Parts: sequence; C-alpha cells; structure tokens
Amino acid sequence: SKAEGQNRLHRFEPALLLMRRLRSQLVEDLRAAIKSDGLTLYYQPVVELATGRVEGVEALVRWNHPTRGFIMPDEFIPLAEEAGLISELGLWVLRAAVHQLRSWIAASLVDNRFSVRINISATDLQSLQFIEDVRNVLKETGVRPEQVVLELTEVAIVKGNELDRYSLAGLRGLGVGIEIDDFGTGYSSISYLRRLPVDRVKVDRSLITGLGTDPSQPALVAAVLQLVRACGLEAVWEGVETAEQAGILRGLGCLSAQGYYFSRPVPPDQIPLLLADQPEG
Ligand code: C2E
Ligand code: CA
Ligand code: CA
Ligand code: CA
Repeated sequence: SKAEGQNRLHRFEPALLLMRRLRSQLVEDLRAAIKSDGLTLYYQPVVELATGRVEGVEALVRWNHPTRGFIMPDEFIPLAEEAGLISELGLWVLRAAVHQLRSWIAASLVDNRFSVRINISATDLQSLQFIEDVRNVLKETGVRPEQVVLELTEVAIVKGNELDRYSLAGLRGLGVGIEIDDFGTGYSSISYLRRLPVDRVKVDRSLITGLGTDPSQPALVAAVLQLVRACGLEAVWEGVETAEQAGILRGLGCLSAQGYYFSRPVPPDQIPLLLADQPEG
C-alpha cells in the first residue's frame, strides 16, 4: 500500500542521510589529504623480459587516511572525479613522481633510460592547464621529458574529441612518452590505434590471466602483439603473476612486463634495493 511505501521510505531515510554525510566527510578528508601530503606514491617496476633489468616504474597512488588506514585508488579516484578533485590530485601525483625521479637520478640510482610512468585521468587530458603543468614540472626538475611516460586509458582516449587529440599532440610536443593503458578492454582499439600520437600500449592483465592454464591463450597474445607492432607500436604486458607467464611472454618475443611476479608496488625507499638486485647492463 501507499502507507507502507512511505513507511519504508522513512525507515531508509536516515541510512541515506548517513551515507551522504560519510561521503561528504570523505570528500573533505580527500581534499585535505591532497593539500597536506596525505597521499603517497608506491612504485612498481616495469621489467625488460629478456634480461630482468628494471627499465622503469609505474607510480600508483595510495591514500593514508588518518583513521581508516590505507585506501586504494579504485576506491578514491572515482570519488575524486565526482567531487571535482581529480585535477588537483593529478597535479599532486605528477609533481611527486617527477620529483622522485629527479632524486633517484641525483643519487645515480637510475640512468637516463629509466622512466617513471604516471596515470593520467580523462579530465587531465581535457585540460590545457595540464600541459602547462607538465611543462613546468619538467622545467623545475630538469628531468629529461623522455623519462616521463603518461599512461592514459583507452576509455579516456576513445571518448575523446578533437581537443583531446590536440592535448595528446601538445603533450607529445613536450617530448614525454604516451602509453595507452588497459589496452584490450575497450571496443574500438584497432581503428584509433594507428591514428593517435602514442608510443606504446600497456595490455590489460585480463589478456594474460589464462596464460599458463588455457592452451589457446598464447596464440591470442601473439595476435595482439602482432597487431600492436603492425601499428608501429610496442607493448608492455601487465599483471604477470607467475614465472610460467613471464616465460611464455618472453618466448613469444614480448619485450617488457610488469606484475606481482617481478614485484608488488613498493614505497620509494624500497626501490634502491630492487635496483641493486638486478643484472648489470
Ligand atoms: P592501472 O593503471 O591499470 O594499474 C595497475 C593495477 O594493477 C595497480 O592497482 C597494481 O597494483 C595492480 N597490479 C600490478 N601487478 C599486478 C598483478 O600481477 N596482478 C594483479 N592482480 N594486479 C596487479 P592499484 O595500484 O590498486 O591501482 C588501480 C588503478 O587505480 C590503476 O589501474 C589506475 O587506473 C588507478 N590509479 C592508480 N594510481 C593513479 C594515479 O596516480 N592517478 C590516476 N588518475 N589513477 C591512478
Ligand atoms: Ca596504469
Ligand atoms: Ca592497466
Ligand atoms: Ca586498470
């Protein structure tokens, strides 16, 4: 009945209000975290398959919340997007990652082939200010632009309009690397792959989860590799969790990979140890 329906509504109202209050509290906490170093970056090695050399790292943001502990990006990146905080967060990540790279270079821990990969949101890509921010951070750190690689998801690019293509070209013009992230999860990959000014694709881990168990999977990986190379690009394979998967990828001629098998994302103070552990060259 109508009365019952209204009753139900009343019973749920406090819960909804509570949720809304928690959420807006969380947004305020996030705003404060971005301003006062409540975020930190973890770094995960990208490895050259043939040699095991660490060719770079991907910066992955974490939120060290004062009462809730560590919060992972899948939880707060969407919140940042909705609350209009993603540009601020993106700028914080950009500055923190490039300054970190500069200090590794200054300490002679890495050479000039070593790159830091930074995840860029669709919002960043659409903002001309972001290109200026990248230019400024490169200038203030003196880091060579080739050593900074921006990772953009397929979704952000496919959704993209002319402005995005302009932004991509603008970023490319600064000399930074551009990589398509989560490649293989979108739907129109092939049509845009040849037209966009990008350097590499990072193949989504869903494409290799069956590697080592599903006998048809290596053929799929080989086909994707061939497709990417036919477009004049190179691929990085993410989500490698076992020695067998790494071996199959190496055997298929894949060059670079990333995943728990090589290393989990680690705080920056563990990077020197990881680098010390690797083969010379
Ligand atoms: P992503 O860019 O695709 O990053 C890869 C995710 O896979 C990371 O999760 C990483 O920890 C995880 N991963 C790495 N190796 C393995 C593996 O072998 N197996 C499995 N199962 N997972 C693996 P994380 O750090 O939780 O980040 C999740 C997503 O949040 C990222 O996905 C990215 O889309 C977003 N993100 C992270 N940091 C940033 C950032 O600074 N800015 C923006 N805009 N987004 C970020
Ligand atoms: Ca990424
Ligand atoms: Ca990815
Ligand atoms: Ca992802």
